[in-house]
Amino acid sequence: MIFLDNHSTTKIDQEVLDVMLPYFLEKYGNSSSPHFFGEDARDAVRKAKEEIALLIGCDANSIFFTSSATEANNVALKGRVLKHLLSNDSKITIITTDTEHSSIMSCIGVMCYNPNINIKILNVDCLGVLDYDKLECYLSECEKPIIVSIMAANNEIGTVHDLDYVGRLCKKYGALFHTDATQAIGKVDINVNDLNIFALTMNAHKIHGPKGIGALYLRDVDLFSPIIDGGYQSTISSGTQNVPAIVGFGKAVSICNSKQNKDDIYNIEVLRNYLLFKLKDSFSDLIINGTMVNRLPNNLNFSIPGVRTDIVLSSLDDIAVSGGSACMSGKVVGKSHVIDAIKCEHGDCAIRVGLSKYNTIEEVDYFVDKLKHIVSQIRK
Ligand code: PMP
Repeated sequence: MIFLDNHSTTKIDQEVLDVMLPYFLEKYGNSSSPHFFGEDARDAVRKAKEEIALLIGCDANSIFFTSSATEANNVALKGRVLKHLLSNDSKITIITTDTEHSSIMSCIGVMCYNPNINIKILNVDCLGVLDYDKLECYLSECEKPIIVSIMAANNEIGTVHDLDYVGRLCKKYGALFHTDATQAIGKVDINVNDLNIFALTMNAHKIHGPKGIGALYLRDVDLFSPIIDGGYQSTISSGTQNVPAIVGFGKAVSICNSKQNKDDIYNIEVLRNYLLFKLKDSFSDLIINGTMVNRLPNNLNFSIPGVRTDIVLSSLDDIAVSGGSACMSGKVVGKSHVIDAIKCEHGDCAIRVGLSKYNTIEEVDYFVDKLKHIVSQIRK
């Protein structure tokens, strides 16, 4: 079995698992307890926050753990809007893009009917590149306060947005910049101060950490209301902290902070480029979805005209890749909004590959050979 679907999740690193285990069996205290079990848990949580702070260049006290990146995105958007609407009867504006993760799109979906929430959606071009002029136009025209929520890197076509430029525009117009960096963390250098980022979303399971744990960086927590109340753990995210997962998250981030990670990312990019070369060599009509210029080093999204995604996915029985299609509960339910946004002519044939440090050249060779066989059967 070959796993080439590392945008959906990643295999946990053995070192990450090893550091988590004692927090299930020996050091299982509640991080809010005053006794020494609680103290151990609190120390571990603090250490994890410090690793994340080192990765994104912020203060450890600005990191809040959540159950997922989905929750972090919800807190960033709904929490900011709620805080504003609870104390003001003026409008608030959210500017976002048409290729955000569904957790951002769904927040927008529930907020768009409120007359006090002004929503502006930026389009991307056929390569997935943002309309930055339009962003400046919205920033100069829209009612304040303004939240700009633009993902750092796209989870389907891998486009890395120009966070530096967006940050500078947000600074110029006094907008709060939130970025969903879930796919970018560990692959793209992000320093929240240099980029003028006020809120940042991430999770552990895209960087070989455990599932069910996310984090939100908030430069000024007082600008946000919690969306789940009752918390004695922290002001923004309630409930007893998942200490083993937080410990694993911290370890996964410490690996991202290491020199080894730089080498791993370099090797992944070389492997991705090798895959691209082999695909082009094998399919003369291959179409690359998205730009190759500013793209995640582990991402490839392509279409082979006339070769439908659902048929390829079901024929690749021992290889896990995904479609450009939004998959829900394991079922392909239609073309994804990202593939639609780039007006991909062969969107129903889109295949997404996400590589990791565990993938090998032999796996890539096997994948392309198998794809060649499937395509020749279909075209016969
Ligand atoms: N944002 C992006 C860009 C993602 O790719 C994902 C996961 N596919 C999420 C948010 C949601 O992450 P989680 O699974 O932690 O909710």
